[in-house]
Amino acid sequence: MTPASSDLPTSARALDLLHSVFGYDRFRFQQANIIQTLLDGGDALVLMPTGGGKSVCFQIPAMIRAGVGIVISPLIALMQDQVDALKTAGIRADYMNSTQSSAVRAGVEKRLLNNELDLLYVSPERLNTSDFITLLQRSCLALFAIDEAHCVSQWGHDFRSDYLQLKLLHQQFPQVPRIALTATADKRTREEIIQQLELQQARVFIHSFDRANIFYRISEGQNNRDRLWRFIQANHAGDAGIVYCLSRKRVEAIADWLHLKGRIALPYHAGMDADTRAQHQHRFLAEEGVIIVATIAFGMGIDKPDVRFVAHLNMPKTIEAYYQETGRAGRDGLPANAWLAYGMQDVISLRQISQQSEASEEFKRNQHRKLDSMLGLCEQVTCRRQTLLAYFDETLDQACGHCDNCTEPPTTWDATEAARKALSCVFRTGQRFGVNYLIDVLMGKPQERISRNRHDQISTWGIGTELSMNQWRSLFRQLLVYGYLESDSDQYGGMRLTQRAKPLLGGNENLMLREVSPVKQKLTSRSSRPSLEVTDQTLFDALRALRKSLADDLGVPPYVIFHDKSLLEMIDALPTNLSEMADISGVGAQKLERFGQAFLTVIKQHQ
Ligand code: ADP
Ligand code: ZN
Repeated sequence: MTPASSDLPTSARALDLLHSVFGYDRFRFQQANIIQTLLDGGDALVLMPTGGGKSVCFQIPAMIRAGVGIVISPLIALMQDQVDALKTAGIRADYMNSTQSSAVRAGVEKRLLNNELDLLYVSPERLNTSDFITLLQRSCLALFAIDEAHCVSQWGHDFRSDYLQLKLLHQQFPQVPRIALTATADKRTREEIIQQLELQQARVFIHSFDRANIFYRISEGQNNRDRLWRFIQANHAGDAGIVYCLSRKRVEAIADWLHLKGRIALPYHAGMDADTRAQHQHRFLAEEGVIIVATIAFGMGIDKPDVRFVAHLNMPKTIEAYYQETGRAGRDGLPANAWLAYGMQDVISLRQISQQSEASEEFKRNQHRKLDSMLGLCEQVTCRRQTLLAYFDETLDQACGHCDNCTEPPTTWDATEAARKALSCVFRTGQRFGVNYLIDVLMGKPQERISRNRHDQISTWGIGTELSMNQWRSLFRQLLVYGYLESDSDQYGGMRLTQRAKPLLGGNENLMLREVSPVKQKLTSRSSRPSLEVTDQTLFDALRALRKSLADDLGVPPYVIFHDKSLLEMIDALPTNLSEMADISGVGAQKLERFGQAFLTVIKQHQ
């Protein structure tokens, strides 16, 4: 608490803290209302996209209210970083989890009981122990913040059983206000959070999920690895980014390959030992321009603000997953890219995984629906952002102008005739062959296996020479996506017709599809432009070098000192004294005092 401001009304004190501690001028979106709700002793449920600014919503009221704010977060590996960043800004924060020695923990306990903390981060496991509850009963509590609240939902994709116990908080400490926060929430997850955490009385704040600074690009094709490299080269030659792959093997291979290309690229997956994993995560946060190649095991809660791109070399299973993973790009609000490349095999394997799972029929049906939405997003020809937002029950009236379909509208073609040929080829070959075989039959390619099966004598043999191999592949993929075909769950992936195929085959339905043209393939490797606009690269480099050396001295990641955004503002404003420096966004009192002069000196030397 800043003593000087303690006799102001709470709303003015909140703004004062935003300015003096965090260095920001005004609250964004609903932040002020959320903070006021907690200051008034009420509960809040906050849905905000990654990078929206959730943290200050509980940090500021925890500083103003008497006692400590308990922050429950599943991200043990990141607690230290989060707490270090808070301490650097001058906030009395600490954490408690199983990675600490008992001596260190005892020290934190003491500070807690002496009322010397504004924020205490704990894991849900710890919170659920009776020792800890007893400790809380002896402490003065300002609020509970339940971060990543979607972990309580079995419907979502990050379910943690420990989260279910969190309703105890309400039962044991009914007078302490609670705030639950998440960046993922479709309606159903939201309802489950309210129910499981008993938040029926909470005010709900739903912020737009639009991430306007992210450019979305989704493309289908072959040689995705090379295309990834061209994309990185053209847009992100020195930037930090995350590349997601489905399998551990692929993660290793892609990381090695990027390394050979001259980038620092580190693998991250659940099969690696914990130390190496922690080390790779640490380097990603602490160094600049590192690429992490990871399975989905990586990323939740990573609040590195300057991840400039997130690439997927496999299709995520759901739009929620896609949105959350791509949401890790550009948290600082500066331009960032989300890039996804997929192929037919993705469609086939995702369909198979969802068929084979042991789960209940209802669960499977849900997974199917979610997968269909994801596939639909990939194949659609209209604005991606409109579809993404619609998925989260939000309407965007106009096309966004900031996605691949908006800037390079894909062409469609009447695929009715070709689709009939394909479906009838599936039927005449007995509904058991894979796509490559079917294409060979359609194109009339002489193959031993085909003549053995006498499929060079059926009516669909050689009737498809008007399309290229690639065009047929794209057609089959889209037939799968739109549910005209389904594939066997064995390794051969034989194609079968579904009920949906009937009207199309019978001539009662037309089909318009996305075109794959060689031109289009080339375009996808072109620069998608959104990169940082640095007006003075030399000064930017000098400021970054200073930031890095200060960060190394303190053992924190560079962005904990200042974000890129603050550096870019310094380049524009060229402050000459501390009071001008204080006007730069992100420069709070504590940081001004500790680092302001050093940055001023570099700026001065440069002129
Ligand atoms: P989330 O947890 O919602 O992903 P954070 O709390 O990490 O987001 O905030 C994202 C970024 O926005 C951080 O760099 C944070 O300091 C910044 N930020 C938060 N509130 C404001 C504000 N009112 N004005 C400017 N920047 C803000
Ligand atoms: Zn768009």
